[in-house]
Amino acid sequence: MLSLAPYASDPARSRGRRYAEAPAPTRTDYQRDRDRIVHSTAFRRLVYKTQVFLNHEGDLFRTRLTHSLEVAQLGRSIARSLRINEDLVEAISLAHDLGHTPFGHAGQDALHACMADHGGFEHNLQSLRVVDKLEERYPQYDGLNLTFETREGVLKHCSRTHAEQLEALEPGGVGARFLRREQPGLEAQLCNLADEIAYNAHDIDDGVRSGLITLAQLQEVPLFDRYRVAALSSHPDLAQPSQQRRLLYEAIRRMLSDQVYDVIDTTQAAIRRVAPDGVDAVRRAPALVMFSEPMRESSQVLKRFLFKNLYRHPQVMETTGLAQQVVRDLFEAYTASPGEMKAAFAEQAGLDEGPLRARAVADFIAGMTDRFAAREHERLTGLRLLAG
Ligand code: MG
Repeated sequence: MLSLAPYASDPARSRGRRYAEAPAPTRTDYQRDRDRIVHSTAFRRLVYKTQVFLNHEGDLFRTRLTHSLEVAQLGRSIARSLRINEDLVEAISLAHDLGHTPFGHAGQDALHACMADHGGFEHNLQSLRVVDKLEERYPQYDGLNLTFETREGVLKHCSRTHAEQLEALEPGGVGARFLRREQPGLEAQLCNLADEIAYNAHDIDDGVRSGLITLAQLQEVPLFDRYRVAALSSHPDLAQPSQQRRLLYEAIRRMLSDQVYDVIDTTQAAIRRVAPDGVDAVRRAPALVMFSEPMRESSQVLKRFLFKNLYRHPQVMETTGLAQQVVRDLFEAYTASPGEMKAAFAEQAGLDEGPLRARAVADFIAGMTDRFAAREHERLTGLRLLAG
């Protein structure tokens, strides 16, 4: 096994957990974080949460769980080449979407609007809240008590206002870098980019599978078309109509590999330029894990294509509207009758009728799977808007 580079996060030099714990006899702290995440309730819920397509729309579409596994696979494979910490990359990847609401971005937007007077709702902050507070597994503390480095990676974006609030509760903690305008460690930077590589690729696959976008349409995306043409020139048989799925997979496979090698080469060059002697130097340097400029631009073109043709497709927008109504109705119903929620949330909501109640309702809704939310909505309103 390759030894870790000096700029890799080293569990032996971790900034530690919020509650001190004795080290595990056979696992590093980052392996232990990964294991705690895999055993969490929020992680199991990811299997029934929407990525783009609602969970009931088909068995083969990505869910937040399979998406997170793909991010972890891409992240680990790049991490190995960069000699940074694979276990930490895996832990962050598996936890990065734990705070997502049911129904994907539609659910998050609706919940954010419901929380407008109470600080809003933001899924990165919620992922941190899940691992710091909402998981109830240990007798001594709330949350999973993960290391600083995993928590830092989970909080990939944060507004200044939220960063100031975090800083007040935990001085010099995970909010500090947003105030100091510093970067996180390389493992966290990598998970961000692996997330983007994963969803661009799998949304092409799911988009074509759903019939909402076609291979012909994708020819207007240079990044994809380059690999489609290359795949056809090595395997002319893939031009047969019966071979369209294989052609799609082969083009996506080539695109993924090229993006992975692009990130490895570009990042290695950036690391050589800056020559960080440790993680603190990485934090002070500009972002080091990145695409080359041409790959960044072509990836943007692909993103814009998916946004316009898939995420904003009338059929997706129709379920988006229904999903938002479900979230709004649930928010209203639980705010009026907190006793309808699970006991722990009802108890929190009983503390006041303002921000604490709203936050308890938001936490309860955010934790729901798509189908639980649809069923709860039907129970509370008598309306069946989405198949649960
Ligand atoms: Mg993601």
